[in-house]
Amino acid sequence: MATCLRLFPSAPAAKTSQLNHKLTPLFGCPKPRITPSRKSHHRIQSSKFGSFLDLKPESEPEFLDFDLSWFHPADKSRRFDVIIIGSGPAGLRLAEQVSRYGIKVCCVDPSPLSMWPNNYGVWVDEFESLGFLDCLDKTWPMASVYIDDDKPKHLDRPYGRVSREKLKTKLLENCVCNGVRFHKAKVWNVKHEEFESSVVCDDGTELKASLVVDASGFASSFTEYDKPRNYGYQIAHGILAEVDCHPFDLDKMVLMDWRDSHLGNEPYLRANNSKTPTFLYAMPFDSNLVFLEETSLVSRPLLPYTEVKNRMVARLRHLGIRVKKVIEKEKCLIPMGGPLPTIPQSVMAIGGTSGVVHPSTGYMVARTMALAPIVADAIAECLGSTRMIRGRPLHHRVWNGLWPLQRRCTREFYSFGMETLLKLDLDGTRRFFDAFFDLDPYYWQGFLSSRLSLRELLFLSLSLFGNASNPSRFDIVTKCPVPLAKMVGNLALETI
Ligand SMILES: Cc1cc2nc3c(=O)[nH]c(=O)nc-3n(C[C@H](O)[C@H](O)[C@H](O)COP(=O)(O)OP(=O)(O)OC[C@H]3O[C@@H](n4cnc5c(N)ncnc54)[C@H](O)[C@@H]3O)c2cc1C
Repeated sequence: MATCLRLFPSAPAAKTSQLNHKLTPLFGCPKPRITPSRKSHHRIQSSKFGSFLDLKPESEPEFLDFDLSWFHPADKSRRFDVIIIGSGPAGLRLAEQVSRYGIKVCCVDPSPLSMWPNNYGVWVDEFESLGFLDCLDKTWPMASVYIDDDKPKHLDRPYGRVSREKLKTKLLENCVCNGVRFHKAKVWNVKHEEFESSVVCDDGTELKASLVVDASGFASSFTEYDKPRNYGYQIAHGILAEVDCHPFDLDKMVLMDWRDSHLGNEPYLRANNSKTPTFLYAMPFDSNLVFLEETSLVSRPLLPYTEVKNRMVARLRHLGIRVKKVIEKEKCLIPMGGPLPTIPQSVMAIGGTSGVVHPSTGYMVARTMALAPIVADAIAECLGSTRMIRGRPLHHRVWNGLWPLQRRCTREFYSFGMETLLKLDLDGTRRFFDAFFDLDPYYWQGFLSSRLSLRELLFLSLSLFGNASNPSRFDIVTKCPVPLAKMVGNLALETI
């Protein structure tokens, strides 16, 4: 924490600065000669560097060395107040928060001490307000957005990489202090009676509780939906890599690089990228260590993974980045938008399975960290020592704690953002983000962190329209009526 505070003695004034220098100096590495590809349809040609896709990640699965309080099948009491399925960021944060109230919690996960696999990035102010600054292992004072070759924007908002080890250890320590039990198993089935639910695990154990919370992530089958799940999908290929050199400033992470000059000799990839664009996300740790991720912000149908990887090969080759070692590899697939789960229902949900992922960005960690205490409050109101509200009234209260009317309405708006992005090609996307990051920082930052009210979102839309170029306005007018009508319809349904 001290390091981070020293890096940011006072919160930097929020502003976006746009540097209009050409990007030539960015290519600090010696550039390989690019030879035209003759056969780009399936796999792009390897440069003289070869392709990093052939390198095997060097890291092994890691486990935390930590003393947990385990549930023993021989224990007489198999009854808890709350069972949480999954010990990802969402499950552990909720367990930590609910157990503060003296509520008996059991977390069930096939491997509670495994290190989380994903590389998480957050805005530093989001984690600072939650008291998690000490759980960032690297921060950048600024983030850059490359709209095209001429217009990098440098966002005056510090960004950080979450230390999975520190965050998980902190949450586990608090869980252990508060008496949370852990059971190492996979939940197979959840059953409900009027005032009690039970989970059946793959080791044959059956545990009972007043409330079961599903925190098992995007692939969950325990949470129910009563509407078709018309998700958009974020797909990305990421590597933590040791490289010869890279062209990125060490004090700026690259939030989005929409440039496509690397596809000049890849007509097939270029044409597809113009229709369904991908961008580079990069976290430079030092001059030889960098996390690189080629990302499709949102697509429907899902952009093929091989296409994303091939574009990344072409991009790194163009940037002169030679990957010496792949330390970690990450396949990212995030369902975004779509309807909320049925509200209420007998299983409570939090995290990836509960609809809290930002429909336009795919971010979720900071938001879940912030929402878990609210859900914990609602649970404690019902199951705390002085009250005993169970069954349907309990489900009603906790679901409405997570998704009160106001939050459901703003989510409709963020989903409208996603539907709009789905309609934009590369040029439209560039124009959109050009105008978006020129907004007053209060609005673009608030939008990315899901903290704007409905009125503020409305103001943001009007400002965006006002700031937009004429072609961008044309995009909005011609491509957005259907999503807009859908959003207005859904808002009307929510408020009836
Ligand atoms: C590759 C990737 C990168 C991401 N990067 C970011 C980012 O930079 N910033 C951000 O804000 N968001 C990011 N996200 C989105 C989101 O924050 C993550 O997906 C996050 O991990 C979701 O947390 P979770 O706790 O809901 O689920 P998970 O992290 O998926 O954890 C679920 C846990 O449940 C367990 N489980 C599953 N099934 C069962 C079962 N039947 N019984 C018991 N346990 C079970 C799993 O083993 C796992 O431990 C990313 C997502 C992905 C996929």
